[in-house]
Amino acid sequence: MTPPITPAEAHVFERFHDAVFVRDMEGTIHFWNAASAALYGWPSHTALGANARALLKCEHHRDPHACADAKVLADGYWEGELSRLTETGSRRLVNVRWSLRRDAAGNPVGVLETGHDISSAKELERHLKASEYRYRNLFQAMAASFWELDFTAVGPKIRALLDAGVRDLEPYFLTHPEVVRDMMRSTRVLDLNDHSLRLFGRGNRAEMLGTVDRYWPDESIQVYARCVVKSLAGLPNNIEVTRLKTIDGTAFECLFTACFSKENLARGVILIGIIDLSELAAARHALEIMQTELAHVARISILGELSASIAHEIKQPLTSISTYAQAALRWLKRPQPDLQEIENALLQIIDEAQRTDDVIGRIRAMALRRPAEESDVAINEVVQDSLQFTDHELRKHSIRLTTELAGALPPVRADRVLLQQVIVNLVMNAAQAMASTASAPRELTLRSTSPDGQDVRFEVLDSGPGIAPGLEHKLFESFFTTKTTGMGMGLPICRSIIEAAGGLIQLENRDDGSSGAKVTITLPGLKRPV
Ligand code: ADP
Repeated sequence: MTPPITPAEAHVFERFHDAVFVRDMEGTIHFWNAASAALYGWPSHTALGANARALLKCEHHRDPHACADAKVLADGYWEGELSRLTETGSRRLVNVRWSLRRDAAGNPVGVLETGHDISSAKELERHLKASEYRYRNLFQAMAASFWELDFTAVGPKIRALLDAGVRDLEPYFLTHPEVVRDMMRSTRVLDLNDHSLRLFGRGNRAEMLGTVDRYWPDESIQVYARCVVKSLAGLPNNIEVTRLKTIDGTAFECLFTACFSKENLARGVILIGIIDLSELAAARHALEIMQTELAHVARISILGELSASIAHEIKQPLTSISTYAQAALRWLKRPQPDLQEIENALLQIIDEAQRTDDVIGRIRAMALRRPAEESDVAINEVVQDSLQFTDHELRKHSIRLTTELAGALPPVRADRVLLQQVIVNLVMNAAQAMASTASAPRELTLRSTSPDGQDVRFEVLDSGPGIAPGLEHKLFESFFTTKTTGMGMGLPICRSIIEAAGGLIQLENRDDGSSGAKVTITLPGLKRPV
């Protein structure tokens, strides 16, 4: 019988990088090169004479083995993928080519196989498919809006800016919004998920493809600019809460994330994700309105508590006005009216009327229902204004007031009336605490400092009974009160006002050797001294 391989052929095949082996028609292996030994693990002395199918536990990847055998017999050639067992028991996926060997009479005498390992390539392909599937799933199934944007046309525009000498893009974009708008008009929507169609559009994908500028209101233009700046700086993403608008032009609040992966940037693509925050924003807005209402109710309630002081403050100038008017009348009724005295009395009347007007103005500001409005506030001025409300109350309870207000404090950013409400509230609490005990002396100290030259600290120190042990943590809870007529909302409202201004408020017992309570407010100071 003709052997399926000649020594000359064996010599050549031995040098092949591919695994080459030759079997006869029964499957017995007659040739086994070094690459076969390396791939399957079996040395040639084991493989030679063994049955190929038994040795390699051959499994077809796609076709049944018999079919491949039939094909190679019929066509003289077969190519396919086979899963094979190696000497260590692991499976390898091998891409093989079989060619039929014939003797001089044309009878098949064997099959020559060349093969190479494709296990890792297949694995990679499988991984890629799985991750693409996952990505697609995420892209479509998440309750978030995802967009793929093509910004290839933006690159030349940025290069032109740099060539024109623009060194720092961020400030440039701030002063040239029209340039940013132009870049938006060059940024195209490549793809977007179904959620985006619902969130931004009317459900029509074709209508939404195009450029991105129509989804960007002017107020958010710098978000796009920062994406450009950050991607150029090599940062991985840009995340911001901003506002975008739907295809119908309705602006809504959202969490915006742009990812600048190197692979995508190389393709001129960025991926953005958008989460709708409008419901959250509406809830936050409703809460803000409620807080404003509550603060307003609390102010009205303080004014109620202060009604005796207010009446006193208004009554005093009115009494003076009446006295000066009577005096003026007397000067007038003299046979020789003293015009100088009359003028003096009238000037005093004007002064007193102005005083009344100021008192009414302060009360009106406290009583008014209006949204919070921040401005740069000098805390010492607010302390002085607040004391005008509480002055009479302090005198009524024989409370000695000491003010230690530091000069040249940095201003704070807050709503002036709300801050005044806080101070009046704290002074009233201190006055009530001191009035609750018969023990004299009753002393109140208001102190403002800036310990580090940056933050502003304001302290209210009283000589009352202080905080009973175990109550420290309850004081700021809503409706916690130890007073028979108390509402327990004063301190929680003070805290929400101070925290809204970025500050902190604490109430504790004094630690300076005196008995009584101490309230400390710390607010971030602005740079400019006032
Ligand atoms: P209310 O004044 O209606 O009780 P607040 O929220 O202003 O409500 O105060 C809550 C509680 O905190 C008071 O009832 C009191 O027990 C305590 N408190 C507040 N300020 C002082 C203070 N200066 N000294 C002692 N206790 C205080």
